[in-house]
Amino acid sequence: MFDRFPEPLADPLHAVMARFRADPRPEKIDLGVGVYRDAAGHSPIMRAVKAAEEAILGEEDSKAYQALHGDDAFVSGMTNLVFGADHPAVRDGRIAAIQGTGGTGALRIAVDSAFAADPSARMHLGLPSWPNHATLAGAAELELVTHRYFDTDRQALNLEAITEAATSARPGDLFVFHGPCHNPTGADLSRDERRALLAMLVERGAVPIIDAAYYGLGDGLEEDLDIIRESAATVPRAFIAVSCSKAFGLYRERVGILFALCANADERRRVQGQMERISRSLVSMPPAHGAGTVAHILRDPRLRALWEEELDAMRRRLLELRSELGGFSGEVPMLRHVQSQRGIFSMLPLSAEQTETLGRDHAIHMPQSGRINIAGLKTGDPERLARALATVSR
Ligand code: PMP
Repeated sequence: MFDRFPEPLADPLHAVMARFRADPRPEKIDLGVGVYRDAAGHSPIMRAVKAAEEAILGEEDSKAYQALHGDDAFVSGMTNLVFGADHPAVRDGRIAAIQGTGGTGALRIAVDSAFAADPSARMHLGLPSWPNHATLAGAAELELVTHRYFDTDRQALNLEAITEAATSARPGDLFVFHGPCHNPTGADLSRDERRALLAMLVERGAVPIIDAAYYGLGDGLEEDLDIIRESAATVPRAFIAVSCSKAFGLYRERVGILFALCANADERRRVQGQMERISRSLVSMPPAHGAGTVAHILRDPRLRALWEEELDAMRRRLLELRSELGGFSGEVPMLRHVQSQRGIFSMLPLSAEQTETLGRDHAIHMPQSGRINIAGLKTGDPERLARALATVSR
C-alpha cells in the first residue's frame, strides 16, 4: 500500500532556506525564516527561559504522566496571563483549557473537536494566511471556505470580502481570526472592525477561532492580549489557540494552549471532555518541559519581569526595523505600509520573478509570495533591502 502514498509536497520555505544556505556571499540576507532573530541574526534563548529551565530541572522529582489537560500550573498561569483573573468568563467558570503541542497542536484539538461535534461545520479562512490553517482544516476534514483578507497590491485589508464571508457563515461554522500581528501580512483588523465581525458571527451562531501566536510583538503585551480579552468578553463561544513559540522563544519545545470559551459552566464540562478525548488520540499527554518552563516564569515575579522586558526588547527591535524601512518609502513606495504593520511579517507586492532576482542578484532571499520576516534584517540590512527593492521595481 505504500506505493499509493502521494508524492511529498514541496515546501516553498524549505527551498528558500536551501538557497540561502548554498549562497556563499557573506552579505546574504534571509527573510524567509519563520522565527525571531536579534540584530546579530541569532534566535537566542531568552534569559528568563534559561533561568526557569535551570530551576525546574533542579526541582523536578518525577517523569510520571501528568493530567490529560497537561501541566496545571501552566494552564492556570496562561489563563491568568491571557484573560486576567477578573475576566467575567474566568469568574463564571466558562473557559475550558488544554495544553497543546505548540499553537499547532492547540489548533488541531480545536478543529478536530469541532468536526467531531458537527461534521457539517465549515472553516472560513481569509487569505493569505499561515499555510497550516488550510492543512489543519483538511486534517480535521472540515470544509474550507476561503475569502480574500488582504490585497497585496493595495497593501490593504479587503473588508468587503471579509464582511461578506462573515455574513455567509452558518451556525457552528468556524471563522479564523489572527490574534495580533497577522501572518503573513502584518495587517490587523482595527478594534472596531473586529468587533463588528464578531457581532455578525454571534448573530449567525458561528464560532470565532482566534489564533494568537505573536502577542507581545505588536503594540505591547497588555495591548496585544487585550484584543483576546475584549473578543472573549463579547462572544458567548470561541476557540482561542495561544502559542508560546514566539513570545517565549520556545519553538522546538512545542508549547501552546487551547481555550474554549463556553456559554455556561455545564457546556464547559462537556467541551473540556471532548478536547481531552481528541488530545488523547493525538499525543496521549502533552510534553512537560516547555510548559513547566512557562509556568515557572509566570509564577516567579523576577523572571516574569525579565521575560516581559526581553519580549518588549524584541518588539521594539521590530518596530525600529519597520520604521527604518518606512524611511525609504519615498524611493520605494511599496515600503509605505511596513511601518503601520505589526509583528515579524509583512508581504511585499513582488512578483515571483522579482523575488528570484533579489535572491540571485542581491543575495536577499525570501519566498515567491513576497513575505518577508522583518527580524531577518541585521544592522545595516534595511538600507540594502530598500536599494535592492528600488532596483528590481524599476
Ligand atoms: N499560528 C500562526 C499564525 C503561526 O504563524 C504559527 C507559527 N508559525 C502558529 C500558529 C503555531 O506555531 P507553533 O505550533 O510553533 O506554536
